[in-house]
Amino acid sequence: MREYQLYIDGKFIKPRAGRYDETLNPFDGSVVARFAVASVEDVNLAVAAARRAFDSGGWAEMAPSTRSEVLKAISAKINEKAAELVELEVLDSGSTIKKAREDIALSARAINVFSKLALSENERELSEISKPGFARNILRYEPVGVVGAIIPWNFPLKMAAWKLGPALAAGCTVVLKPSELTPVTAMELAKILDEIGLPPGVVNIIPGYGHDAGEGLVKHPDVNKIAFTGSTVVGKKIMQLAAGSMKRLTLECGGKSANIVLDDADIDTAINGSIYGMFYHSGQCCEAATRLFVHEKLYDKFVASLGDKAKRMRIGNPMDLSTDIGPLISRKQVNRVMSYIESGKNEGFTIALGGGVPQPSELSKGYFVEPTVFVEVDNSSKISQEEIFGPVLVISKFFGDEEAVARANDVSYGLAAGVWSTNVERAKKIADRLQAGTVWINEWHLLNERAPFGGYKQSGIGREFGRIGMEEYMEMKHIHIDDGFPREKRTWYDTVVPKGEGGNW
Ligand code: NAD
Repeated sequence: MREYQLYIDGKFIKPRAGRYDETLNPFDGSVVARFAVASVEDVNLAVAAARRAFDSGGWAEMAPSTRSEVLKAISAKINEKAAELVELEVLDSGSTIKKAREDIALSARAINVFSKLALSENERELSEISKPGFARNILRYEPVGVVGAIIPWNFPLKMAAWKLGPALAAGCTVVLKPSELTPVTAMELAKILDEIGLPPGVVNIIPGYGHDAGEGLVKHPDVNKIAFTGSTVVGKKIMQLAAGSMKRLTLECGGKSANIVLDDADIDTAINGSIYGMFYHSGQCCEAATRLFVHEKLYDKFVASLGDKAKRMRIGNPMDLSTDIGPLISRKQVNRVMSYIESGKNEGFTIALGGGVPQPSELSKGYFVEPTVFVEVDNSSKISQEEIFGPVLVISKFFGDEEAVARANDVSYGLAAGVWSTNVERAKKIADRLQAGTVWINEWHLLNERAPFGGYKQSGIGREFGRIGMEEYMEMKHIHIDDGFPREKRTWYDTVVPKGEGGNW
């Protein structure tokens, strides 16, 4: 069985408290690997290593072109080891192999995009306020310092890549804490960093639990920024804990995205897109299309066809290429999702599809929930308002565009939304009014590493991706240079400083 140690200061070391845990295959509960669990003491070692690596200037002050080459080498190694990483991601996270193939390729792609952004200019003149010959104003971006990156279990390697790419491109050093449920591919990434000869301490990877290693990282005085992806509940806790040292924060949290099908939608595309938007990765996506609003003119036919099609998704072994729906991450997550299904039933909503645990004996050891569809659901209900993070879709009907916008926005989250229509102008007007960080028109799940991604409202703070995402890992400095402003024009002579020549020189 594979066993992973902590990766600190360029070495694979045993955890100080000697604690190890096992990660389980969500398909059958079997043990995938044994991994070292970081305690606060290990966090302290990792932060000290990252601090030294940052303060020495070796990484932060390295020529951007050299940093870019390092990122390219990481990306190339991920591609080289893709087959192994895909298999491990399936075993560790329950991702279908179809999704894991995309995830690993996209992890490499994200790092590659940031290898290019590492070359972008970090200093420019604010010419609009400079006065040639008198004064210049420079805007300079500098790496924020040591970053504590905390990530969830739903896209393990991709989330690691989304944090390491911008942080390293910006010149920061990092302590990455993967989820305790899915540490495997992050630890394989540690091996890659070691193989390409990343300088010690630039990246440290330490799996551990949230209440222990996670909080240790958030509270640590030598960490300058926390880059977090996970639930809104934990995001709020992190905000509170980080307040003590006023750390920089980016929080990528939960979602309850509204998916609006207008009466002029291309119905087939909208049905397929809605199924993909909702049930991809068994609904364990932050920006999943979990609330479906269908125009009343289409409602009955649309819902019936969606149900017929969704029924045909294949639930099964995620390692099998024909599987569409794999397991959830854990037994705990199954129980959580089932409790939401019970809540929907108790509130009296009709289930059009699923609602239980699949019965085939080959799935009995796995953490499965049937794709479930509730219809005619009230927007104020618990299942419409709270993030379930499983394969549970709620559908309701609307009568006009105004109503669709109002109901879509009537939720505490604002990560993503979508509109299906053959009239792009009409859809765009709706998109303009949706309170969400990403809005798709006739698409879903399509993110671009060069376009900002993040949430309105309680879906988070800050944005990932692109130069904007990289600047979240940087401080901005304004440098004012006096180039010979005439003395008589200096306004401060009229305020505090007495008129006349200098001092007693
Ligand atoms: P989670 O919030 O339970 O855990 C996320 C990470 O935070 C894990 O590494 C965990 O160990 C750590 N953590 C937990 N408690 C902590 C604490 N007190 N202090 C510091 N760290 C702590 O989330 P999860 O269950 O792993 O993932 C699912 C959630 O992630 C969903 O809510 C989903 O919407 C969200 N998510 C958001 C995005 C996005 O980009 N907005 C992407 C993926 C997942």
